[in-house]
Amino acid sequence: MNPAQVNLEEIVSGLMLLFGGRLNQSQITVNIRKRSTSTFIGYASEIMQLLTNLLGNAIDAIGTGGRITLATQSSTHWSTETSCVAVSVADSGPGIPENLRKKIWEPFFTTKADTGTGLGLWLVEETIRKNGGWIRMRTTCNEVRHGTVFRLLLPLEMPQI
Ligand code: ADP
Ligand code: MG
Repeated sequence: MNPAQVNLEEIVSGLMLLFGGRLNQSQITVNIRKRSTSTFIGYASEIMQLLTNLLGNAIDAIGTGGRITLATQSSTHWSTETSCVAVSVADSGPGIPENLRKKIWEPFFTTKADTGTGLGLWLVEETIRKNGGWIRMRTTCNEVRHGTVFRLLLPLEMPQI
């Protein structure tokens, strides 16, 4: 398959359809903020899969009652100056304790007793790299503030290989 036009709005609507039931049941509100061009060149199904993983993790982290913000923004990669679309998934969950912040990216690392495979973030990182992009995580985990943001940077054009 070749890279093709990806429509981010379609992907976001798809995600809302896919997760609507779980979000409702868990009383999680989703805010969608769109500040980017909505189309770019890439692999739509892989990007859908990435975001499915991140959204699933956000819902798991929140448990019941909270907020997820899904935002898209036009952006530039800080060192290569590649034009990108940034997609972020921010949750109001408990955050990630400092000693786990590296481990979460390892295959089979999970804190979910029965339901986790620990493959989600590992796959996310692999996939984003294959798509020529980058991923960053920011998390806060203390008495006053808590929450986590995963931010994907996807190049507007797939790099030529
Ligand atoms: P899994 O979801 O199967 O546990 P992942 O690779 O997707 O595997 O995630 C690994 C671990 O990273 C999770 O078990 C959880 O401890 C942590 N994690 C991932 N996303 C979040 C998040 N949004 N908030 C808090 N912890 C998270
Ligand atoms: Mg996961």
